Amino acid sequence: MNVYYVIFQFKTVSDTGHSYKVFIRTLADFNSSEYMKNKIQVYCGCQDFKFRSAWLLNKHDSLFRTTKIDALLGPALTDSPSNKTRLSGLCKHSMAAINYFVSHYQQLMRSI
Ligand SMILES: [Zn+2]
Repeated sequence: MNVYYVIFQFKTVSDTGHSYKVFIRTLADFNSSEYMKNKIQVYCGCQDFKFRSAWLLNKHDSLFRTTKIDALLGPALTDSPSNKTRLSGLCKHSMAAINYFVSHYQQLMRSI
C-alpha cells in the first residue's frame, strides 16, 4: 500500500487586511472513504498560533512541522506557554481553513 500525504495551503485574509498562510497536511483520500478518521496536521504563520496553539497541537501530533516551521516557532515549540497565556487549540485563521477543508473535503480530495 502506498501512502501519500497531501499538503493544502490556504490564504486567509482578516477584516484588517492581514493575510496568513495556513497549511493542512493529511493523507490523500481519493474516494473520501476515510473522511471520519483522516487525521490532519495544521500550521498558521500568525503570532496567536505560535504562542497559544503550536505547543499544544504539537503535544497531540496535530502540528504540521517542517524544518522551516520548527525554526520559525523556535522556543514556542518546546517551552510550554506561561500560566498567564490562555491556550487556544486554534487561531481564527486555522479554524477558518479547517472549516473550509471539512466542508469541501470531497471536492479537495478529488482535486489532487
Ligand atoms: Zn493564525
